[in-house]
Amino acid sequence: MRVVPSICSFCGVGCGIGLRVEDGRVIGVEPQPGHPVSQGQLCAKGWASSFAIDAHGRLTQPLIKEHGQFRPASWDEALERVAEGLRNAQDERGPGGVGVISCARASNEDNYAAQKFARAVLGSNNIDHCARICHSPSVAGLSRTLGSGAMSNSIADIDQAELILVVGADVTENHAMIGARMLRAQARGATLIVIDPRRTRLARLADIHLQLRLGSNIALLNALLKIILERGWENTAFLAERCEDIAPLRAHLAELSLAQCSEQCGIAVAELERVAYLFSQVKTAFTAYGMGITQFQSGTNNVIALSNLVLLCGQIGRPGTGINPLRGQNNVQGACDMGCLPNVYPGYQAVADPAVRARFSTAWGRAVPEAPGLTSLGMMHAAQQGELRALLIMGEDPLQTDPDQNQVARAFAALDLLVVVELSLTATARQADVLLPAAAFAEKDGTFTNCERRVQRIRQAIAPPGLARGDWQILGELARRMDYAGMAWRDAEAVFDEMAALTPIFSAMNYPALDAHHGLQWPCDSAHPQGSPILHQQGFPIGRARLLPLSQVEVAELPDAEYPFAFTTQRLHFHYGCGSMTRKSPLLERETPAGLLFIHPEDAAELGLAQHQGVRVRSRRGVLETRIEYHDDLPRGTLSMPYHFSEAPCNRLTNDAQDPISKMPELKACAVALEALAPGQAPDIHMGTSEVSHARL
Ligand code: SF4
Repeated sequence: MRVVPSICSFCGVGCGIGLRVEDGRVIGVEPQPGHPVSQGQLCAKGWASSFAIDAHGRLTQPLIKEHGQFRPASWDEALERVAEGLRNAQDERGPGGVGVISCARASNEDNYAAQKFARAVLGSNNIDHCARICHSPSVAGLSRTLGSGAMSNSIADIDQAELILVVGADVTENHAMIGARMLRAQARGATLIVIDPRRTRLARLADIHLQLRLGSNIALLNALLKIILERGWENTAFLAERCEDIAPLRAHLAELSLAQCSEQCGIAVAELERVAYLFSQVKTAFTAYGMGITQFQSGTNNVIALSNLVLLCGQIGRPGTGINPLRGQNNVQGACDMGCLPNVYPGYQAVADPAVRARFSTAWGRAVPEAPGLTSLGMMHAAQQGELRALLIMGEDPLQTDPDQNQVARAFAALDLLVVVELSLTATARQADVLLPAAAFAEKDGTFTNCERRVQRIRQAIAPPGLARGDWQILGELARRMDYAGMAWRDAEAVFDEMAALTPIFSAMNYPALDAHHGLQWPCDSAHPQGSPILHQQGFPIGRARLLPLSQVEVAELPDAEYPFAFTTQRLHFHYGCGSMTRKSPLLERETPAGLLFIHPEDAAELGLAQHQGVRVRSRRGVLETRIEYHDDLPRGTLSMPYHFSEAPCNRLTNDAQDPISKMPELKACAVALEALAPGQAPDIHMGTSEVSHARL
């Protein structure tokens, strides 16, 4: 047996793992000793990594759909079919008629290849990925206020914080090793404050839990800002040295009523005052947040409101402080960094900048598109309108993870060509016209970037099953068939080197330098050859930081007589994303509760619902049946579902009302109605699926 160092392929914490390899198979994993993030530990998902890549259930050869059935095909035939379909779509609709959705689970090299394929080969900026539905408001909001949308500090800074503020993040469930680190910090004396409408595990253990009303983040944060300014608790030196004039914010807050903010968020003024005092007076406050503030139609403004608080108190640019978006998937940070967004090239270089376009055009030997591209949700709408004719999806499952599942199914049905590159037969993969088998993380070389901007090496430990290939190799071969030779890389390192040469924040990174450390944190350039564990120490990329006045924005759909329950979504510790990897682990599957709609026990009692009784849940967009599970971490009147389970797809219910800035859909809040099934009646898991299952058959 040998042990190959790698990185956990589940969440954005980026723990170091060792893949135990014997006879060409990964037979288990172990924590990487001395790893700066995981410190020799893993969570339950990390320990189960080997199930995720098990050859059982994997796609092993290209498949082409004919008469509603997949049949095996050679790579030659499948790629020719794809190339022809993409060309036809371009001929019919121009470069806007095609699009690519890349993957937050794939490597940086795969993602660099995806955006280059979209721009240089297809001539389109229609490139996006699932950051759209997790942290696009972080990129948009923090870029406006600070000039950078990533975590400002490192995970290790938690150890130096006097106070840890967690807003809208279920950290022990979703970023378990960070949650554990926060609890260790609390045990050594740090104050832990959680702001969340749910009484999460971390909230139960916190020193203070502000259980705000769902979707009232701005009201609560404005109340904290108002109190701090009125009491003179702001950091005047920091504001004078590092920020633009805060007079507009001060004037806006003076107009607000504290009593009204308190009523809007459901938190008593005294509690708000206590938190405002603690946060503003400690020397070091580490602020972390998650999708509990981004997945709203006010997502970007929610992020800006939190940034206002951090800046007002000068809790940034030093060890133990900072504003830190906890990115969800293992490489969602990297997919953004690689330019898999419609408006930026790698390293957040703007598509709108002619000098940037000229540089990439020269390097790639192709004219590159000027027009901004569509977001992933924009592509779904364009498909339904007949404008987008062909879509290539690399390793994502929007049919399960995007809002309003029936609308996604209608978009797929309207396409002339849907190509999916995947490990296994996900809900989205079933809809493909051409399905291409991809290599998993243990079957290829490359890099992942964790949530603290740390670029880390993954290494090929075993061969891919059957004919499966790495995504960048598939895209390179497809490019060649579409008369573009500029993606015929020798290996993953060549892809990385090309990216680094074109991307200033990565210009001093290369594989030997990454190997010599446990990865490096960007920016890593001639001024920072050892990387940058802390951002904004001397200045902000935009010069002086901005504090922007904001008002509370209500969620798009509030409960009413017809749909009387508020509905939100969440994740579970033992599963990850659409479940396509974690649900292969019998150990993780064993831990999953049978009931998948969480309801407060008193609400259940009022409706006469027994534990695990079947129910029908209906929103304005769809209906499904599942079972209930009592859960007193929810406030009364609010229901919640995880999104890992295709047999109980909460996104058939969710709302795609969008944040006008980032286009983030409001996945965290809508209104539903609940109806009991007869006692003993099993839920019909196919209820409401006909539109989905027949979309492209
Ligand atoms: Fe993997 Fe995240 Fe668990 Fe670490 S915390 S082992 S990265 S799932």
